[in-house]
Amino acid sequence: MKILFVGPQGCGKGTQAKVIAEKFNIAHISTGDLLRNATGELKKEVDTYMLTGKLVPDELMLRVLKERISQHDCNKGFILDGYPRNITQAHELDKITRIDKVIEIEISDQESVRRLGGRLSCKNCGAVFNENTHTPKRDMQCDNCDAMLIKRADDTKEAILKRLDIYHSETEPILKHYHSVKINGEQPIDQVTKDIIQALK
Ligand code: AMP
Repeated sequence: MKILFVGPQGCGKGTQAKVIAEKFNIAHISTGDLLRNATGELKKEVDTYMLTGKLVPDELMLRVLKERISQHDCNKGFILDGYPRNITQAHELDKITRIDKVIEIEISDQESVRRLGGRLSCKNCGAVFNENTHTPKRDMQCDNCDAMLIKRADDTKEAILKRLDIYHSETEPILKHYHSVKINGEQPIDQVTKDIIQALK
């Protein structure tokens, strides 16, 4: 099964994609994580866009994505978390694969800003916590793997607003291109998971 998760920053795409990918035994591809883990020249190039909340160029993103999708663990299927981000990317994706389901996780802009402002991420295992809503058991330490938690470099007020602006102007229009199932992302995490599983049946 090949699934897209679409939704504004902080809607819980990453958190849900991890759980669902494990349950269905498919790969979780976060394009944001792929770029954050880039090294060398590629890292230098993508950092200039990412740190200010801008999208990296389509051609570069497509190259990184194609390479990832060609890996063995994607044979059974995958969840794409963070791609496509605009209509050009949606058309490029059509050329390389067929998507079975599109899940849209909805939250308000106000909730998005609130969540991202307090977001804490584990650099080691990728788990996500929140200073306000989902605090780690120990101060700035990951509950799963004990590594230090960090605030993402692009979770500044300015970059958050820029990313939300891009979401509404460039990413939201892709939903007209697909038949998507809407999920209320402002419910408890477990309920969102249940709704997604129901939608995938
Ligand atoms: P995310 O982790 O999904 O919030 O993505 C973080 C940042 O990575 C974005 O603000 C963009 O700079 C970049 N990025 C992630 N996915 C894409 C994409 N599909 N196209 C262009 N840039 C992307």
